[in-house]
Order: sequence, then structure tokens, then C-alpha cells
Amino acid sequence: MTAGWDVIVVGLGGMGSAGAAHLASRGLRVLGLEQFQGAHDRGSSHGNSRIIRQAYFENPAYVPLLRRSYELYGDLNADDPGIFVQTGGLMMGSAGSAAVAGSLASAREWDLPHRMLDAGDIRRHFPTFTPTEDTVALYEERGGFVRPERTVLAHLRRATREGADLRSHQRVSGWSADRHGVTVTTADETFRADRLVLTPGAWAPDLLADLHPPLRVERQLLFWFQPVSGVGPFALGRAPIFIWESPSGQQLYGFPAIDGPGGGVKVAFYRNGRPADPDRLDRDIHSDEVEQMRRHLAGTVPALAGGTFLRGRACMYTCTPDLDFVIGTHPRHENVVVSAGFSGHGFKFVPVVGEIIADLACRGSTEHPIDLFAVDRFGGDGSAS
Ligand SMILES: Cc1cc2nc3c(=O)[nH]c(=O)nc-3n(C[C@H](O)[C@H](O)[C@H](O)COP(=O)(O)OP(=O)(O)OC[C@H]3O[C@@H](n4cnc5c(N)ncnc54)[C@H](O)[C@@H]3O)c2cc1C
Repeated sequence: MTAGWDVIVVGLGGMGSAGAAHLASRGLRVLGLEQFQGAHDRGSSHGNSRIIRQAYFENPAYVPLLRRSYELYGDLNADDPGIFVQTGGLMMGSAGSAAVAGSLASAREWDLPHRMLDAGDIRRHFPTFTPTEDTVALYEERGGFVRPERTVLAHLRRATREGADLRSHQRVSGWSADRHGVTVTTADETFRADRLVLTPGAWAPDLLADLHPPLRVERQLLFWFQPVSGVGPFALGRAPIFIWESPSGQQLYGFPAIDGPGGGVKVAFYRNGRPADPDRLDRDIHSDEVEQMRRHLAGTVPALAGGTFLRGRACMYTCTPDLDFVIGTHPRHENVVVSAGFSGHGFKFVPVVGEIIADLACRGSTEHPIDLFAVDRFGGDGSAS
């Protein structure tokens, strides 16, 4: 049995790496355990880019967190310039779509700078898109992208610099907690500390089994296409990030060409996955999946539909029934902090979640608005551990 830490963080992906960095910078002795290595591609935090935006169509309650996240991503940019890039963001659909109406509601409630565009404006400013006449858009200059792997690495470096002991290839098989502290076990070792932070991503159903969380792990795909006449019109500085909702509610999203002339353009469907087991994820991208994307692009971004498919990646969402996160103190263990269920939209919040985790682990509460994320809101009995 090894002891001597204030807090153990299990899972050093997006949220865990940020939590470890914030905890260590507050002077806590941190042990971080990760089953793979830093910035791996087997969880939910890989694929080169993640959308970040403030006029949040999902729910205006997220906006204060996004404002803080922007500040913290700004700090990370000082460590590694280019982690966070504002390209402008276009939320497209019919006027009544969630993407447009929801973004507008958030922008109005929080007085966020934005512009409304009609189909003609969209075609004129962003000629790669072919909107129908009834398509409109909310344009937000602050929209952009962050680099997930580099964000994780920046947080791991910060944590290490502040004295954290971070260990790769350590799969945690179990944990327990009582009022004297916590015990965490791997295949070879048992660790003791005062407090525990659980940030297991898609493995949350295992490590949080005692809470019976109604989480659904989904396989989600990313596609890179080389545009028909090159990446020129998609270049950084010309193209925005976008989310485009079809009349059926399906949301397509994409990025500028951020990986150079031969790197293609990344597009994906938001929430179009099938259930997955994180230890047996099908990582192959199948031809019918590429064709489904091509068909959708034919009516929206034709230069990609006709282009060359370069590559695809599988990634996982861990979805709650209401698609809001799960962040808080474990209902029966005040020395255990839970952070999971990011439902496919968590990366833009990574640094602020790190700060929240550190608040909760250090003093059991946070000033950030996290009521929406209550751990016990699904009525799990939380009785067995
Ligand atoms: C295709 C795709 C596109 C996305 N696009 C966006 C976007 O544009 N914008 C956005 O904001 N969000 C987006 N997201 C969501 C966002 O990336 C996730 O919400 C976020 O990465 C979740 O971070 P996490 O720390 O919970 O999970 P992870 O980063 O996967 O971290 C969990 C870590 O825990 C480790 N672990 C688990 N169990 C154990 C164990 N027993 N022992 C040791 N280690 C363990 C795992 O190996 C992993 O490293 C997207 C996600 C995907 C998959």
C-alpha cells in the first residue's frame, strides 16, 4: 500500500488532466492514474480539433462556464500558441431550428455579440456552403476550435511542473472511500489518499457502477475529405467552424482546413452514434458510413462531397438522458468528486471543469454554476459501494 497523496485522479483524459493541473497548482499532492498514455486516441479527446463557441444553443445556462473557459483557454495558448483559435462560428438551419433559435436565445440572454445572416449572406461570405432559401445563420465571431490532444498535453505538463505524480498504463480496477480517506487499486498496487477524483470518460459506467448512472456510451465518427479544388476556400482565416441543422434535426458540423494543404477538411455528425463498449470499440470506418456522409455533403458542402475521403476516426460520447454533464461530490462520499457524462459537448469546457474539480476536491463546493449537473438527478439509488 502506498500513501502520501492528498488526492488521486483516475483518468487523465480531457477532464482528468485539467483537474490534475488545477489541483497541483493549488499546492495539493496529486497522484494521477491513466490506463493508456497522455493524449491517446482510445477515449473521447482525440481527432485534432473541437468546436468552441459561446452562444450556446444547448442551454444558456452554460454561457458563464464558457466565458471562464475562454479565459482559461487563453492562458493555455500562452503555453502552446494555437491550442485555441477563434475562426468565427456559423450556426445554420431554419429560423426555428435548435441550432439557430437556441443560439439566438443564448446570445440575447447573455448579450453576446452576433450577427444574423440570410441564405444570400451565407453564400456571399462563405461560398463553400449551398444553403436553401429558408436557411439562416447566427454568426458568432468568438466561435472557433481548440486542439484536444495539445490541451491534454498542456495540462499534463502543468500538473507535472507543479509536482503531480502522473502514471501511464495504470488501469484502476476498483476504489473505496470512508471518512478516513480513499483506496484505489490497480492490478499491481493499492494507493491511499485523502480524496479521489473520478474522470473516467467512456469508462464511467464501470468506475461509477455504484451510482447506477444511466449513461449511454456511443461510437461517433470523424471524417476528413480533401475538397475538389483544394483547401483554398476552406483555409483558416476564410472559413468558419459551423453547425448546420437539417429539417430532420440532424446536425452536421465542420472546421476550416487546419492541417495544411493536404490535410483535408474535417466534418462529422453531432449525435449520430450507436451504442459502444469502450473496450471493444469498432475503430474501422466502413464504406457505407463514408457514403452516408457524402450524401449529406452533396446538398450542403458539395466541394467536400465530390472530394477524396482521406481518413476517419472513431471516438466516444458518454451521454446522459438529458445530455447535461454529471459533475459534483459523490452522494455518499464527500471525499469523492465525480466528473462524467459529457454527452459529446464537453471539450470546450475542459479547463473550467478542471477548475470546478479542484474547487470540489479542495473545499466541497464551487462558485461556478453547476446545479444542472447534479450527480443524483437521475434517481440512481447510490446504495451499494
Ligand atoms: C467525435 C467527437 C467529437 C466531439 N466534438 C466536440 C466538440 O466539437 N466540442 C466539444 O466541446 N466537445 C466535443 N466532443 C466531446 C468531448 O471531446 C468530450 O466531452 C471530452 O473529451 C470528454 O472528456 P473526458 O475527460 O470525460 O473523457 P476522456 O478524455 O476519454 O478521458 C477519460 C480518461 O479516463 C481514462 N480511464 C478510464 N477508466 C480508467 C481506469 N479504470 N483506470 C485508469 N484510467 C482510466 C481513459 O483512458 C481516458 O484517458 C466530441 C467528442 C467526440 C468523440
